[in-house]
Amino acid sequence: MPPKIESPTDVERWFRAQAAGLWPAALGSLSLRKSPCMRDHCAACARGEQHVSYVLYGRIRGRRIAIYVPDELEREIQRALKNGRALQDLLYEAGRRYTNAVKHQRTHAQESEK
Ligand SMILES: [Zn+2]
Repeated sequence: MPPKIESPTDVERWFRAQAAGLWPAALGSLSLRKSPCMRDHCAACARGEQHVSYVLYGRIRGRRIAIYVPDELEREIQRALKNGRALQDLLYEAGRRYTNAVKHQRTHAQESEK
């Protein structure tokens, strides 16, 4: 909770400091998908077993996207998604604090004109 009445500049400074630690950041969902591989004459694919791999799903300007994620990068992408959720929470809080700050600033400006 902010201890005092903040100015829009205070909110900006707070937001930039918080957001600085949240890179890499990503939004989306990481899930496992079964699919055939690119190899010719793959025994697993021939048996119909296919292969399990991670896929990052998301939406960019309304279009669905799906990106293959190699196993060894799974933890890295999970970390980015965790930061992305934290950044999203931060933006909601920024909305509240910034709105309060500009409302207070406007009220204060009107009072000093009188
Ligand atoms: Zn295969």
